[in-house]
Amino acid sequence: STFADMGLAQPFLDAINVLGFTAPTPVQAHVVPSALSGGDWIVASQTGSGKTAAFLLPTLQKTWEFLRSGKNNPSDAPFTLILCPTRELAQQVSADAINLVKQAKGLRIATVVGGTPYHKQRIALKGAHLVVATPGRLLDWINQGGINLACLNTLVLDEADRMLDLGFMDEITSIHEACEHRQQTLMFSATFAAREMRLASTLMSDPQRITL
Ligand code: AMP
Repeated sequence: STFADMGLAQPFLDAINVLGFTAPTPVQAHVVPSALSGGDWIVASQTGSGKTAAFLLPTLQKTWEFLRSGKNNPSDAPFTLILCPTRELAQQVSADAINLVKQAKGLRIATVVGGTPYHKQRIALKGAHLVVATPGRLLDWINQGGINLACLNTLVLDEADRMLDLGFMDEITSIHEACEHRQQTLMFSATFAAREMRLASTLMSDPQRITL
């Protein structure tokens, strides 16, 4: 398959071209069409596989469609939330997302991680359509009422096994409860042992599994 066959909007195809991605990696070839078709997915994936674009492309596409449908007002509340285990990974995912939306005018991304001043994040969060966050700081914002999750459609967990290693089970569960009415959950992890499957059954309904 090719990127052009996947039903992605022209701004994303242009960005892929600028990045020099000539063909989808295996995880992208499986995940992009699956996620676009809907439903919950658990994906076994390693760093270096192209997993980041595998979840960014379908979620950005859906966020873009939502934005263009004009339903995202007046609140400008986020449509997609991506949780990452560490500040560094969140910043990397955010940087990749910013590269992919360069031609998608008006699609705004916020990065919400610890160690950054709250006032700057408040400004970034206002009007963001896709939020990349670490669980602790995101939950702070939820508890303070500083983020509106009323329009939240899709939740992505990147490196779920590392989030569990770092003890984020309770934060993830609280975040899940704050956006219970979402349509889709995607969970990426290097391993799917009993505890990852337990997390999946907490967050997802009847997930389908992609193993490469
Ligand atoms: P990731 O596994 O998401 O950390 O991606 C690993 C690296 O592969 C990153 O530097 C990406 O920019 C690059 N990459 C992702 N998708 C592709 C692709 N389809 N073709 C070439 N490089 C890619």
